[in-house]
Formats: sequence, C-alpha cells, structure tokens
Amino acid sequence: MFQPESLIPDFPILDQSIQGRRLVYLDNAATTQKPMAVLLASRHYYEAINANIHRGTHHLARLATETFEKARSTIASHLNASSSDEVIFTSGTTDGINLVANILSLSGRIKPGDEVLISVLEHHSNIVPWQMFCERTGAILKVIPCFEDGTLDQDAFHALLSERTKILALTWISNCFGTVNPINEMAKSARNVGALVLIDAAQVIAHSHIDVQAMDADFLVFSGHKVYAPTGIGVLWGRAEILNSLPPWRGGGEMIKEVSFEKTTYNDLPFKFEAGTPNIEGAISLAAAIDFVNDIGLKPIHGHEEFLIRYAAEALAEIPGIHFYGPSDRAGALSFNVDGIHHYDLGTLMDQMGVAVRTGHHCCQPLMARFGITGTVRASFALYNSTSDINALAEATRKAVKMLR
Ligand SMILES: *Cc1c(COP(=O)(O)O)cnc(C)c1O
Repeated sequence: MFQPESLIPDFPILDQSIQGRRLVYLDNAATTQKPMAVLLASRHYYEAINANIHRGTHHLARLATETFEKARSTIASHLNASSSDEVIFTSGTTDGINLVANILSLSGRIKPGDEVLISVLEHHSNIVPWQMFCERTGAILKVIPCFEDGTLDQDAFHALLSERTKILALTWISNCFGTVNPINEMAKSARNVGALVLIDAAQVIAHSHIDVQAMDADFLVFSGHKVYAPTGIGVLWGRAEILNSLPPWRGGGEMIKEVSFEKTTYNDLPFKFEAGTPNIEGAISLAAAIDFVNDIGLKPIHGHEEFLIRYAAEALAEIPGIHFYGPSDRAGALSFNVDGIHHYDLGTLMDQMGVAVRTGHHCCQPLMARFGITGTVRASFALYNSTSDINALAEATRKAVKMLR
C-alpha cells in the first residue's frame, strides 16, 4: 500500500504552517516540491563537483562531465530512448518547443500553405511558438476542437489531417482539465499522413511511464520542475534520425567541432543543440529526481494519484453549484467553478485556510474562451498528497463558498 504520509518528511517545504494551518499544497501542475534526494544532489554538485564540462583536463572537469553525461543516460533509459544522443538538455518545456519550432523553420522543409496542427487544450507554450513559426514560414495553424467534456473531437481531428499537415504538436495530458489524449492513436494517424509529431509531456513525466520507442513520436518535451527537480532544466527527446537532419539554432561554444572565420563545423548529437554552458547542476538534480520517482515506482504513484483525484471529485461534488471541467477519467488536475462565485475569490479564501490551489486561466486562454470562462479553480496532485489533503481541500472549498454566498 502506498503511504504518502511516509514521504512527507522527505519534502522539507511541506513541513510548515500557512496562516497557522498545515500547508496543503495542491498546485503540482504548476510546479512540484523537491525531495531531500534532489536537494542533496544539487548541494553535492556545488560542494564536490562543480567545474565546466567537456573541456577541462583537470579532475573536477572530468568528474563534472562524467556526472552530467551519466544524468543524460539516466534520463535516456527512463524514457527508453534508443541512445542518450537523443536527449537534449533544455531549460524546460517552453524552451524545448521553441527549439523544435526554430530548427524546423530553419530546415527548409516547411513551405507556405503547409499546416501545423495543435489542439484547443494546449498550454500557451505549445501555441505561441507555432504562431511565430507560421509567421516566419507561411504555414497555417489549425486547431483540433474539443467537446463539452474537454475531450478532443477525433472526427474533427481526422478531417483536419491531410498531406498538408507537417507537424502535430499535442499535449498528452491537459494541465487545465486533466484530459488524457489518446496520444498513441493520434500520433499514428499524423505519422500516416507524413507529419512530424511533437508531444508535450509536461503533465505526464511525474505521473506515468513514458516509452518513446513504443510511440509514433518524433519529439517529446518536459520540464524538470514538474517532476520534483529544479526549475531551469528540461528535456527535449528527439529521434536521432530527425535531429541529425535538422540544422542547429543557437550558435556558440559546445555545439561546434571547429570554428574559423571562414567556416564552422557543427558538433554531433546531442551537443549540436546545446550551445553554451548548460545547467549542469540542474541536469544532475533531474537525474536524482528520476531515480527518486523510480525508487517509489511510477505504477504505485499513478494508482495513488488516480485514487486521489476520484476521491477529490467525490468530496467536492456535494458543494451546491459546483461544475467540474474535463472528463471523469481525468488525470493529475481537477478544475472547477462554483455558480456565482469568481474563481479568484474562492482561491484567495482557500489560501487563507492553508490550501494552495491555482486560479485563473492556467496559461490556456484559448481553452477558457472555448468554455466562455475567464478561469477555474484547479487542484492538482502529486505523490505526497494524501486523503487528509483532499479533506482539507473539500472543507476549505465548502467554507469559502459559504462565506462568498
Ligand atoms: C507547465 C507546462 C508547460 C510549460 O512548462 P515550462 O516549465 O513553463 O516551460 C507546457 N505544457 C504543459 C502541459 C505544462 O503543464
């Protein structure tokens, strides 16, 4: 049996009171808290390893390089990548998507009139880079719509797919509504018309197993801070064959083989896409976070979170006038509004009762517009949350609604 209470001492930040009450942290879709294993890895790096990588001949430089490259292979094997060359360190999901959009726009593969397909569920970071991409290339942005229950309209998706579709960029799990998209089927359909497939796995990495070789994907991105690692580090996984065929975007140190004023030759994967000194400590801490998650096991974590989200929906359902968004088999996040009450007022009062939830548009303004709302209250879950957190959430919501009515 999974015991979240036994993990709480591992997360020092959770051991505090907010306005005299135990902190109940339910904003994990925005960022997760860090376990001791990650905090210690970060500290150990600066206390014992710190040096610049891939250049020095001295002991620390070798140690830093080895530890950094070991972190890369930890992540590669976690994703079941066929080689660690396919793991590019970025600063996060946003950075990874911008990197892919930029190298594709520079590749000469995209012609005016080609199409980029995204969905109405996307985070701004999987919308805006593609709008900029379309401005540069003359490609056209197409959007897969969703039904009232927040699931994507698969008939509309198939109608939008054509040989003009060059890229499908899709979130696997919606950070707003917790919708789990049928990513494998959709990726396969997109591949069948010759499109490249990018998967935004920001809301998957902490909750489910990812096997990139089992998917019809070309690129997959996530952020370290959504999986118990620090901010400022993330991963772009890309199929080596595709990454090799694409030009670099950022120029500088590390990404070159030889530089002269006449001609510069570029480095091999993965360094070709990692210009400049990377976030060495971040990469090492991310590997520590991945080890931490694997020590507990993604299966029990997933089962626990699935239980919590159902428990939360049931506990909140009794509140008069409450509306949930997304399908009932949602994952990770539970979004709601209460009739006649602004989400911001609700969230503010809940904060005063020690319950941290997010209110607002969650970086998904087009999705909010689709539902004719300005935002929702969103509770999102992690491995350290327990039924007592959910009880506190339900009680705080009930009390806040009473005060605002
Ligand atoms: C958090 C999130 C992002 C953006 O991640 P950053 O770490 O801010 O770059 C993108 N997509 C989804 C689904 C997210 O949850």
